[in-house]
Formats: sequence, C-alpha cells, structure tokens
Amino acid sequence: MSGSWISEELRRLVTSRASGLCEYCLLHETDSAYGFHVDHVIAEKHDGPTDDHNLCLCCPPCNRAKGSDISTLVNGKMVRLFNPRIDIWAEHFALDGIVIRAKSLSAAGTLKLLRINDGPRLQLRQLLVDSGRFPSQAALARLAKL
Ligand SMILES: [Zn+2]
Repeated sequence: MSGSWISEELRRLVTSRASGLCEYCLLHETDSAYGFHVDHVIAEKHDGPTDDHNLCLCCPPCNRAKGSDISTLVNGKMVRLFNPRIDIWAEHFALDGIVIRAKSLSAAGTLKLLRINDGPRLQLRQLLVDSGRFPSQAALARLAKL
C-alpha cells in the first residue's frame, strides 16, 4: 500500500518488467477482474523508497493480505517475506498443479501471510487451468528462471 504518487512511467516499467504477472502468485493481470497494484515491497512506513528497486506488480488479493508487512512467523521463527526485487521466484516456490509450494522459510511465510493457497485463490487457478490460461506463458518463463 502506498501513499506516494507513482508516475505512469514507473507504473509501466514495473508492469512490463513483471510481464503482467503478480510477482507473488503469478496470476496474470489479464486473468484478474481487477487491475493490479504497484506495491512497495518494503512499505514506506519501513522507509521503503518509491523507486523501481522497491516496487513490484501485485494482484489485489496478494496486496491486501500483505499490507505493509515485511516479515512473519513460521513455526515461531521470524522470517522475512519473499522479496521479488532480490529473490528469484523459482528458487523459493514451486508450482504443484494449482498449489504453490514453498522451497524456503521466506516462501512459507509469504504463502501463509498472502493467503496464496486459500480456497478462492485455488478455485480461480483451477478455472484458469481448465481454460488453458494458467500457468500463462509469462508464468512458465518465471517458473523456468532459476
Ligand atoms: Zn498475487
């Protein structure tokens, strides 16, 4: 969530760099009923700057669940959330059918906090799989990038 104004140029850069994907759950913006958000990976309240090194493309459900959080607890241990600007998706997550699995503690915390595998999110992914839209070409490229 942001209080700072994000220029159209910056918004275009973030969207194009993400290939239109939510950088957490890999949903493509064209498969969402709602426009995606440009999210501060490190929220402004934690001194995260409004520049391309700290912004990511994020679907509304991931963004709402993440809020300004930058860490969470996994089995009682504090872990930082997955950071799309410094972490590689396929190193932290794996796609198992419609379920996104964690390969790291950061990923486990991110999946939990952002509710990436909650029922409605799985139902949408299943609908998209059934219509041949998930994983999208852009998501397949992200899955292959280690
Ligand atoms: Zn998402």
